[in-house]
Formats: sequence, C-alpha cells, structure tokens
Amino acid sequence: MIAWATGASAAIGQFDFDPEQTRWILSNGRLEAVFQLTAAGTFEFQRLADLRTGDAWVAPQGAPSSPVRLRVLGRSYGPGTMYRLVEHHFEAISPDGLRQTIVIEDLAATAQFRIELEMYADQPVLRYSVRFRNLQPHRVHVRLADMLPFNLASQGKNYIAFRVTQWVVTRIANDFQPQQSALKPDGAAFQVLSGAHGDYCGWLAVRDEAQRGFFAGWEFDGRAQASLSQVGSGGYLKLSAQVLSLNHPVEPGEEFQVPAAFLGLFHGDWDEAGYRTQSFAEAVLAKAPPDPDRFPYVGWDSWGYLTDLDEDTLRREAEIAARLGLELFVVDLGWARSIGDWHADPRKFPGGLRALSDYVHSLGMKFGLHFTLAEAAPDSPVLEANPDWTSSESYGYHGAVSLCLSHKPVKEWVIEQAVRLIDDYGVDWFLQDGENMVKECTKETHTHDPLDSNYSNAVDGLNAVISAIQQLRPNVHWENCENGGNMMTFNMVRYYVTSITNDASGALGARRGVWGATYPFPPRYADRYMPDERLDSYTTRSYMFGGPWLFMNRLTQMSPDDLGLAASEIGVFKSIRSNIGRGKVFHISAWPDENRLEAIQSYDAVSDTAIAFVTRHENPDDSYVLRFRGLRSRANYRVRFEGLPTTLTMTGAQLMNDGLLLTFPELRTTEIVYAEPLQQ
Ligand SMILES: [Zn+2]
Repeated sequence: MIAWATGASAAIGQFDFDPEQTRWILSNGRLEAVFQLTAAGTFEFQRLADLRTGDAWVAPQGAPSSPVRLRVLGRSYGPGTMYRLVEHHFEAISPDGLRQTIVIEDLAATAQFRIELEMYADQPVLRYSVRFRNLQPHRVHVRLADMLPFNLASQGKNYIAFRVTQWVVTRIANDFQPQQSALKPDGAAFQVLSGAHGDYCGWLAVRDEAQRGFFAGWEFDGRAQASLSQVGSGGYLKLSAQVLSLNHPVEPGEEFQVPAAFLGLFHGDWDEAGYRTQSFAEAVLAKAPPDPDRFPYVGWDSWGYLTDLDEDTLRREAEIAARLGLELFVVDLGWARSIGDWHADPRKFPGGLRALSDYVHSLGMKFGLHFTLAEAAPDSPVLEANPDWTSSESYGYHGAVSLCLSHKPVKEWVIEQAVRLIDDYGVDWFLQDGENMVKECTKETHTHDPLDSNYSNAVDGLNAVISAIQQLRPNVHWENCENGGNMMTFNMVRYYVTSITNDASGALGARRGVWGATYPFPPRYADRYMPDERLDSYTTRSYMFGGPWLFMNRLTQMSPDDLGLAASEIGVFKSIRSNIGRGKVFHISAWPDENRLEAIQSYDAVSDTAIAFVTRHENPDDSYVLRFRGLRSRANYRVRFEGLPTTLTMTGAQLMNDGLLLTFPELRTTEIVYAEPLQQ
C-alpha cells in the first residue's frame, strides 16, 4: 500500500491504492469511498461509508455503476465498458482537500476518461467530475452525460426522497415548497428538473426509516433531469442526473467536461441533510462573501420607483439609506438608455451615473447596478448593428429579446460592456437579472452547435462570461436573479455571493422562499426584497431571516415612526446575521401558511446560540410551544425575547423537550427568541 497525504497544518486524510486489486480507498477520516478497476477491466464504484456513524452505501450485486456514464453518437461508455489504466495520482488541493485523479482508456482506444475524486477536511462528501477525451480520428458528438451515475444497494429498506421547488411563476406557481415522497419498488421515478427555467433546485436527498441518508447536488446551470428510482424490493436505488438536449461536438484529441457533482452522507432528518450540504457548499464551492464581518448586507433597491428614476430622487434615497445604516445601494432596471444600451440615461442622470456612485460611496455604502447581460431591446444599437446576435428563442424580459451568450462575438461584447460599466460607474455589485439565463438557441449561424445550446449556453456562455468578468474585475460581487430564484444550482453558488429567492411576493411569500431555499442552500443564498413603506415588526421580521435584506421601497415616503422602526430592526438584523449565516437551520414547524403558527430556528455552534423566529399569521390559535433544537442538553441558557423584557434561565434539555409557551394576542406578529449560553 502506498498512502496518505498531509496538508500544511493537519492531515486531511488518507488516499490508498491497492495495486493487486487496482482499488482506490479514499478517506478523509469522515468518509470512505472505494472504486476499482476490476480484473474484468470495468471501472466501478464499490462503496461510500460514513466513518463516524457507520452508515454504508454499497454497490448492488448484479447492477454495477461507474462514475462514467456517457454516450457519443453510436457508442456508450458505462459500467460495462472495459478499460485499461493510463495513470493515476493524488494531490493536495485548496481548500484543505485531496484529489485523486484516475485516467482510463477504453480497450478499443476510442476514448480516454479523466476521473477526479475529491474530499475535503471534515466533509462527509465526495465531489467528482469526469472529462471525456475523443481518441477517434473524427469529430464526435456527446449525446448523453450523467452527473449522478450511481446505483446503491437498497439493503431491504424503505426510502423517502426529498426535493425543493424553485421560484416558478410562468408554468406552475412554485415558491420553494419542500416536497417529499416515499419510493416504491419499481414505482415511478422521483424526478428533479433543475437549472435555469427548471422546476426544482439542483439537489435531492434520500433517507431510510433509520435516518440513514445521502444527498446529491450537481454543478450545472442549464436544464438537467435528475431521477431516482428503487429497482426491485431487495434491489437498488438507481440515480441519474442528465444534461438535457446535449449534442456537444468534440474534435479529435479534444475534451468534454461533464459538470461536476457531489454525493454526501448524513444521518438524521432533512435539516441535517441540508446542513451537511450547506457546510460543504460554504467550505468548498461557494463564492466567498465580500465582507465577512458585514455580510449579508442590508441594502436598498430602486424598484420601488420602477423605471421612473432620476438622480435627485436617488440622492435623497441614498441619504436616508445611509442614515438607516444600509450598506448597499442598488440602482435597478431603468438606469440605462435601454436594455442592452449600457450607458446611463442622460435625461435621468444629467450629472452622470458616476456622480451618483461617488455620492453613494461617500456615504459609506457599496454601489450596485442592475445588469441583464443576456437581454437587449430590439431597437438597441447592439441589435441594430448585429441582428443575428439574438438566440432563436426569446423570453420577453421587459420588452427585450434574448442574446445568445454562447455565440462568440456576443460573449466578447458582453464581457467588454461589463468591464466598462464597472470602471465607468464605480460598480461594486451586480444584480444580474434576466428571463431564463440559459437560452435555447438553434441558430446555424452561431459559433455553438445548433442542437447543443442547453450545455453551451450554460457552460461556454453564461459561466464563461461571468468567470471572465470576475477574473478581470474580482472585487465586484454578483447577486443571482433569474426573474427571481429560478436558477438555484450548486454551480450558481460558485459565481454568486447570494441569490434572490422569490421575487417581491409579500411577507408570507418571503418567509416561504427562505423556508425552502434554506434546505439545500446556505442562508446567505436566500435574499429578500421588501416593498413596504408602512412598517410593523411582523413585516420587517418576515424579511429578516436569511441572506441580504433589501428595502425595495421609497424611503422618502416613510414616516418618521416607520423610519425609526426600520433603523432599530436593521440593528437587530445586524446583530443576528453572522450567527444565522454560520448556523444550522431548523425548520421547526411545517411550511409557512396563513392557517398555522410557524417557527424557524438557527443554531450557531461557534457561539452556542440559537435564534428562533416564531410567527402568527392569520391563524386562529394564539399560543405556540416553541421547542428549540440543536442545543446542548446539559448546558444552561439565558433565554431572551426581542419584544419582551423577560429573561429566563433554562437547560438545553428543558428548552428542547418542554419548550417555551409563547402567546400571540394579535394577528400578524413575530417574536424573535434567543437562547444564549449562560456564562458560568
Ligand atoms: Zn446561439
């Protein structure tokens, strides 16, 4: 056996190779994953085990699976393909991880696969990716690529699967509802249509009756169809997540990258599945927040004025925003001459947009700009000069038509425009928006394959454009919006520091969006827009739990009392944001609904502090027993309330088992309850 690797400070894990069995046994001390190039020549997944809980998931008898499941026209590569080993090695990778690379080639020498298997310190998660290299002397088209190509023995257990909808208003009304469903042997597959304009977040979780579970996420913004089914009662769980409408040309000697994905283990309920996913996302995938001590920001957005903007009004808004303690000032749609004509409208900004940006900066706030990089008005100069730059499908964003980001000249133009905007207008923050960020485009005149736009517009289009802009201007941070939270993927978190959840849909809607999004995604990826000008603490607290809190109202129209309330509630938000950002989210009650009291809680292990939001909406009951979760049973906690002078001392066990009886005499009220460690 050859072995081990150590990081700079501590051992990350041990990656072993058994040359007699050509078997790789990868461990980070938390998770063990085993893969083998068998004597027959197949490359197979064998086992994934949680070394702390002892939970193990193994390859089923008679239904092997392989990280490679890919088809080019006329040829399939999968668990039945025979390979020879070309080379393998492992290396330390950032942050605190190890990567095993295994290169195999099929015996017919038509394809080489570079398989990368990664583990990170203390994460019970295997991240993997596969690159296909075309060894044939002619171009091939990749027609199928599976990001989740695993079969796992079902071990005679019954399973429940879990998914979360995206914000979808066009076809069906969805607002981050969590949905669970029992799998039936040989029953219907549990489906997750994810990505831009998809129905679900790009994630799923599964567990058996004994709380043994796994979760999976795939790092792709285009549309993907994930599916989970149970084959036979004593058989296996069959997983897949396929890139839809794939037809990617690969020249001889060139490569195709299957989007990376991850498979992680958990033991517990859906909150635990979410927390393990979020910890991994924050440690490994997610774009670092701009200002860790002050993020998520509380900010202002100009959409309260729709597109009816002007410099004087925005200056007055900025003055009040700064006095309230807001940290980000975003000029939304309407600042430019038209969509796609990315120059400030001189009638609205006679002194120039830069002067406003400088003023915002002088008040100590970040300056953000709305940017719909893949849309342009039909009469914009760019489309008058280049009418063929539109994608064949248009999605009708505020009268604009869609641009095809994977068409090379469009890509170059968008990058150039973004960099100019950032430099000319002193931009710190882009509120990206648009209708379906991954366009469908079948044009023969573009530089992508006409049948490959889902992959090419996602990877070679949107991702390539944003990554080029971010490399050129790394200090600008991006907020994901696709007409709301409609591209909720684990690729999105790699480029954006936050995401809108639902679009402005009221206090109840805001709580629903956060509720569902905080299963797969860290709380900072659930930002909320508050349009209200008349405030009460029910309203403010409906927008407080999660990521950035954006005032999308007219501050100039608010009364002194409402401004006073806003300032004190902003103070509350700032005092809890880092705890909630780091914490585990507990969805204590059911999904927010008019007809019941609801409670959501965060527990931050660093400060041993729990913060619960309990809300009475329109329901008749006026009392609720709040049972905290995640506390240390024997520890003593000081319990305090945002709206009551009372404090109590209780043990963790009392707070979790007996709970606290809270009364809500009024409709539409929210109490924030804190459990903080009592200093001994
Ligand atoms: Zn195109």
